[in-house]
Amino acid sequence: MKTPFVTKDQLEAICQAYPTPFHLYNEAGIRQTAREVNAAFAWNQGFQEYFAVKATPTPEILKILREEGCGVDCSSLTELLMSERCGFSGEEIMFSSNETPAEEFVQAEKQKAIINLDDFTHIAFLKETIGYIPETISCRYNPGGVFTLGESEEGFQVMDNPSEAKYGFTKDQIIEGFQTLKAMGAKHFGIHAFLASNTISDAYYPVLAGQLFQLAVELKERTGCHIQFINLSGGIGVPYRPEQKKNNIAAIGAGVKEQFEQILVPAGMGDVKIFTEMGRFMLAPNGHLVTRAIHEKHIYKEYIGVDACAANLMRPSIYGAYHHITVMGKEAEPCDHKYDVVGSLCENSDKFAVDRMLPKIDKGDLLVIHDTGAHGFAMGYNYNGRLRSAEILLKEDGTTKMIRRRETEEDYFATLMWD
Ligand SMILES: *Cc1c(COP(=O)(O)O)cnc(C)c1O
Repeated sequence: MKTPFVTKDQLEAICQAYPTPFHLYNEAGIRQTAREVNAAFAWNQGFQEYFAVKATPTPEILKILREEGCGVDCSSLTELLMSERCGFSGEEIMFSSNETPAEEFVQAEKQKAIINLDDFTHIAFLKETIGYIPETISCRYNPGGVFTLGESEEGFQVMDNPSEAKYGFTKDQIIEGFQTLKAMGAKHFGIHAFLASNTISDAYYPVLAGQLFQLAVELKERTGCHIQFINLSGGIGVPYRPEQKKNNIAAIGAGVKEQFEQILVPAGMGDVKIFTEMGRFMLAPNGHLVTRAIHEKHIYKEYIGVDACAANLMRPSIYGAYHHITVMGKEAEPCDHKYDVVGSLCENSDKFAVDRMLPKIDKGDLLVIHDTGAHGFAMGYNYNGRLRSAEILLKEDGTTKMIRRRETEEDYFATLMWD
């Protein structure tokens, strides 16, 4: 069972101040998650979580994470600028981008962010663009093939296909890349890899870490480079479905430690720092999309029309992603009605739920759509002239604060040329 982080009464009071739809974030949950992550990796000197800004690009959220000791992982110019305005600088910023425009490397260099190169050719491109190779530099690795954690009765627990992914250096390229970078003045090296997304398994980071640690030992032996950090990047998932089990971050940290002690310590590399770039794990469960049922429709199926739409949360519409829905105040009622819960876009994929068994929904009911704190608001768009919603922070003391206002018609018209 999934329980919202607000009660119905609390939410009705919040709706008095802010009209639906809006994204609501839970400060206490965000802080607690960050603390659990830092505790799970406290064994590693220099451990750093770089929050993936693209998951929730909202200054107030970034500032909370900064207070909890997190850095940021940026992938674009605007994310770099936002991070700078939130107070992040230097090695608190990881710049992991791909197909990078020159101006973005210039900005990353200006902010002294750690640059994570996505391709062998970017070595020369970076040198040409900023005039030198920074002393600390990272390369993204792509092992190719298929990444799997093994098969169980239910099939593959985790499976992804790095050979089809556009990212990273091949193994030969990363060896040559480190040699080239070293010859150009780099002194401290990082290795980064992102091989599977939304993993619901405590084995993902440890297995990935094992592979990267072995690569690090080989790179050190073959190139003589000083490996300063290994970046496990993102990919730790959340249980979107009520029957799924939550990842145990303490067990994940312990699993990485075991690999570290087996592989890096004997190679004299016990000083390597572990970095992560989690987005979804940090924020998804700490956000709700709050919407109200405004229409019921009975044709060949039963529809509930809500005031949010795919422009507020795109994942169900484009990936068929499951997001749990709680009908506020009806938690104890039987789920004996089968509904499609739909938004207003002129696009038949605009469905938050299809054939979902829920309690009887009446017009005016408040619905909480769960796990929208990451890759939720962030993927919003303006199709059909729909405007992006507000973002509201539920603070630790129970009060609320608007951390992004809703868009207005003027915002939408602001980029138009009228004559
Ligand atoms: C998207 C992304 C992340 C975050 O991924 P999550 O699945 O949200 O943890 C981390 N690093 C990079 C480079 C990314 O592109």
